[in-house]
Amino acid sequence: MAALPRLWLADRMWTARWGQAATLIEDAALVVLGEQIAYAGPRAALPAAWVELCAAPVAQARLITPGLIDAHTHLVFAGSRADEYEQRLAGASYADIAARGGGIAASVRATRAASEDELLAAALQRARALMADGVTTVEIKSGYGLEAAAEAKMLRVARRIGSELGIRVRTSYLALHALPGEWRERRAEYVDLACGAWLASAHAEGLVDAVDAYLEHLAFDRHEVRKLFESARALGLPLKLHAEQLSNQHGAALAAEFGALSADHLEYLDADGVAAMARAGTVAMLIPAAYLLLKETQLPPIAALRQAGVPMAVASDLNPGTSPILSLRLAMSLACTLFGLTVEEAWRGATLHAARALGLGEATGCLQTSAPADFVLWDAASPAELLYWLGDRRAQQIVCAGRIVAVA
Ligand SMILES: [Zn+2]
Repeated sequence: MAALPRLWLADRMWTARWGQAATLIEDAALVVLGEQIAYAGPRAALPAAWVELCAAPVAQARLITPGLIDAHTHLVFAGSRADEYEQRLAGASYADIAARGGGIAASVRATRAASEDELLAAALQRARALMADGVTTVEIKSGYGLEAAAEAKMLRVARRIGSELGIRVRTSYLALHALPGEWRERRAEYVDLACGAWLASAHAEGLVDAVDAYLEHLAFDRHEVRKLFESARALGLPLKLHAEQLSNQHGAALAAEFGALSADHLEYLDADGVAAMARAGTVAMLIPAAYLLLKETQLPPIAALRQAGVPMAVASDLNPGTSPILSLRLAMSLACTLFGLTVEEAWRGATLHAARALGLGEATGCLQTSAPADFVLWDAASPAELLYWLGDRRAQQIVCAGRIVAVA
């Protein structure tokens, strides 16, 4: 049976497209057929066949925007590290906390010990919070399992979040996140397994949409990341990289060399890295909440990225250590305040550009004919108002693939 057209109305509708300035359409109409947008534009230009739908719209909002896309999260994990937060406030350093078995090791222990259902219950709560603030697509990484079974368990939970909530989930395999303590004497063997058998089996189970790694002096080096990238490329998997967060390891250039979808963090990115990303079309994924919570002072080179035409995206990096943030909209606001993005750059960064960072189609993240019907109805006058207010909830209806998946 053919799907019936459904219509939403809005005082204003914001969208961006590749190669064009963003538009704010007054008195807008949006028609959905099945899972796709059939029309998005001024109500006055609505094709005649759909005009009668205006008598009974599904809903009418002050503002409609594309659904937000959070393209960098670690939202599947067990336990909490609130105790470490308190210890840090009292003066403990990361090194002190790590020496007591805290930090990422604590999340790994808790995540390995949790059942799949326990992990899912905890992660759903966090995914629901993101969704309630406008997210319709979320990327979720493994990386707290750090052994084959626990990495696969995390990725299965990520898949289940998508089916439970009706939102889009893209997974990234991140076994090169940290070297687990028990492998300290057998580092090369760990890297071989993580790049080889573990990745191959997770991929064979259909759990991997992309491969990611943490290239940093306290994580993995260029040689190890290159090995992972070569394995991923042989499997036809797209790549992402945590790069230049705490120091310049020339990771962005390595990511660009492999045609990676994105290089993420980038506080210590240099001019060569910017140029390499521009040539490769690699998206610069900005993570302002981790910058804030680490009290980092080195800013990512926004002006250079802008000048080189590198698409910039913004993500929450939701994780239990450095970015326990449950709102992408708040991360967008921080990107403006801390990194100097314009309101339009922040919105493009959490819609169109974030879609590219996940390898989704060109139309994803924008409101246009034939694009996926992923959008949000907001109680707000403008995109700027949604970044200006901190900490409130403004989303009234969340639509993903043409289905209303949440209402306020
Ligand atoms: Zn991360």
